[in-house]
Amino acid sequence: MSGSNDHIGGEARRYGAATIADAVARLREGGLVAVPTETVYGLAADSTDAAAVAKIYRAKGRPDFNPLIVHVLDLDAARTLGQFNELAICFAKALWPGPLTLVVPKTADCPVAAAVTAGLDTIALRVPAHPVMRELLAASGLYLAAPSANRSGAISPTTADHVARSLGSVVPLILDGGACKRGIESTIVAIDGSDYRILRPGPVTPAQLESIAGKPASTVTNGKIEAPGQMLSHYAPSKPVRLDAQTTRSDEYHIGFGPVAGDTNLSVNADLAEAASLLFAALHHAEASTKPRIAVAPIPEGGIGLALNDRLRRAASAK
Ligand code: AMP
Ligand code: MG
Repeated sequence: MSGSNDHIGGEARRYGAATIADAVARLREGGLVAVPTETVYGLAADSTDAAAVAKIYRAKGRPDFNPLIVHVLDLDAARTLGQFNELAICFAKALWPGPLTLVVPKTADCPVAAAVTAGLDTIALRVPAHPVMRELLAASGLYLAAPSANRSGAISPTTADHVARSLGSVVPLILDGGACKRGIESTIVAIDGSDYRILRPGPVTPAQLESIAGKPASTVTNGKIEAPGQMLSHYAPSKPVRLDAQTTRSDEYHIGFGPVAGDTNLSVNADLAEAASLLFAALHHAEASTKPRIAVAPIPEGGIGLALNDRLRRAASAK
């Protein structure tokens, strides 16, 4: 668990009452704060402040067509920003707080800045479970736009150190809550009347959603990119990545899984949730190693394996 205060640029601090007060003051002044969530570290700003939201896009080098998730304390707060039908309420009640993002129509008087939704008439909302993020939401009373705290397209951060290395020079405060437990971005579900679509696989599995909704996700798409997680190259290290690697070559750093040992192993017991929590840290480690290439052992597709393979395929796609 990282916790030192000696990062260059950004000032990472362990979480505590004083740091939360400092973070709240910075957010109220339109500043950025990096904050742990149960999925990955987020780069937070007041979603109702257009200038603050512009800072997120600038800091990440994020294309402006790529909308942000807004984090709120509870379903009541979510309902001031988005319209929840019966199905959306069902998912929210079953899975919030937690790693599920719901895309719903905006309310008529939704106060978030237009850039947050990239001009769409829908909004992506999540009630996070992490105690530091929850305390920041409660203490600030703000609705926080917070994409992953890394440069756009690069490997997501699951520790304060990862944030410091990627964005340390532009983020003045990183709240350090240790390593993220889930380690992979939220499942994004779009509500379409009484149907739903999975826009991005994540820790909440299709089977969980199906058992709550009483039906599987619809697979109809309208052909356009609706979430940047759908862009082919994303989450990408600076080195070539080879997937389904049972064995390794001499110039490769090998990320193992289960019986395929590797230089590091995502889960010796082939536990997919454990593997998800360690995936981005392993990619950061592989990127920093002296080996010019990265190889990754096969990961089964079931459950969270779907999300792991989704991230890996994008990591392996040339930019
Ligand atoms: P990130 O925070 O970088 O993990 O990405 C946020 C994700 O939420 C992206 O995949 C966005 O495209 C998605 N998202 C945010 N708002 C919307 C929206 N209104 N419709 C569809 N996807 C959205
Ligand atoms: Mg991201």
